[in-house]
Amino acid sequence: MAGFYYVIIYYLISIKMSNKSISKIIIAGPCAAESRKQIELTAEKISALNNIIMRASIFKPRTQPGFEGLGAEGVELLIKAAEKNIAVATEVMVPEHVNIILEKIANLHKKPEFILWIGSRNQCHINQREIARIIHEKAPKSMRLMIKNQPWKDETHWIGIIEHVLSSGLSPERIILCHRGFYPDSNQNPNMFRNLPDYAMAMRIKEKTKLPMIIDPSHIGGSIENVFRVMEESLQFDFDGMMVEVHPNPKEAMTDAKQQLNFNEFERLLAIIKN
Ligand code: PEP
Ligand code: MN
Repeated sequence: MAGFYYVIIYYLISIKMSNKSISKIIIAGPCAAESRKQIELTAEKISALNNIIMRASIFKPRTQPGFEGLGAEGVELLIKAAEKNIAVATEVMVPEHVNIILEKIANLHKKPEFILWIGSRNQCHINQREIARIIHEKAPKSMRLMIKNQPWKDETHWIGIIEHVLSSGLSPERIILCHRGFYPDSNQNPNMFRNLPDYAMAMRIKEKTKLPMIIDPSHIGGSIENVFRVMEESLQFDFDGMMVEVHPNPKEAMTDAKQQLNFNEFERLLAIIKN
């Protein structure tokens, strides 16, 4: 009889584990959409890899004035990429950005599957809630919203962003969280991460909110070597996936050139996750 129960328990555990691996959210692509060629090359690679979502920002927050992304014109590139049967992800900074995307897809018969995200610097709760409200009220149901943590370390603030978003009425099933680290305090950063992770905090918030939590090793690490280091470290925790910056030619990237992986490096990173 005991043997029978062992078989059942083993069976249940393996179903749980296989569901877990199937449902990992993997988002990869350039920091910013820069050109048609760059997006085509990336989309080709991503679509060949199976079940990976392509990122490319078209509205870029910048520390100092500079390239701010392709804007509305970039939406067309994302729509084209999605024709390769991949979902696409991009940052929206103000409610107007969501409206621009919705207008561009309004007349399409097959709606591309979008993840929009609220980035770390976007800390006006009125905008956060309004972005979520527009998605809730006007977007196709396949559109999801991802929320990154704010740049400074404060658990209550991060939970607050999630509460503001939820107060729009957007269903929790359409929300994903993403940990991108916090501004480092200069004394405790032996590997010179661009932002310091707090994996335990991310896990507490995942547990409290019951929302999927992915990790962004690119904006935490800040360099190729550190992207791999963060990925390895994060495997000790129960993240539901990752968002990583990948570029066909990282040296030529217009933003975040130091941290973007080339396609070979990306495949190496994927192998680490799958093992
Ligand atoms: C990004 O993901 O492109 C980005 C700007 O990240 P963050 O908001 O985490 O700095
Ligand atoms: Mn970036």
